[in-house]
Amino acid sequence: MKDNYDRSISLQCPTCGGTDFEQNDTEQVKCYRCERVLTKAELREANNGLVEAEVEDLKAELLKDVRDDFKKMFSKWK
Ligand SMILES: [Zn+2]
Repeated sequence: MKDNYDRSISLQCPTCGGTDFEQNDTEQVKCYRCERVLTKAELREANNGLVEAEVEDLKAELLKDVRDDFKKMFSKWK
């Protein structure tokens, strides 16, 4: 089983789908592509679906790995 399931999720601009944002010390970020300014909370909100999809993906991957591990384990007992 892999030890590392880290993956990076790029947040997307809800307006143009861009993933590059200018961040400063305030709670606001600005999309480089369409120059839309939105708060980090708004950005997170807009990307909720994206994160869910990523989690589903990860769950499937984990399950598959666990299954493979079990198969290996059982094959040793023969
Ligand atoms: Zn944008």
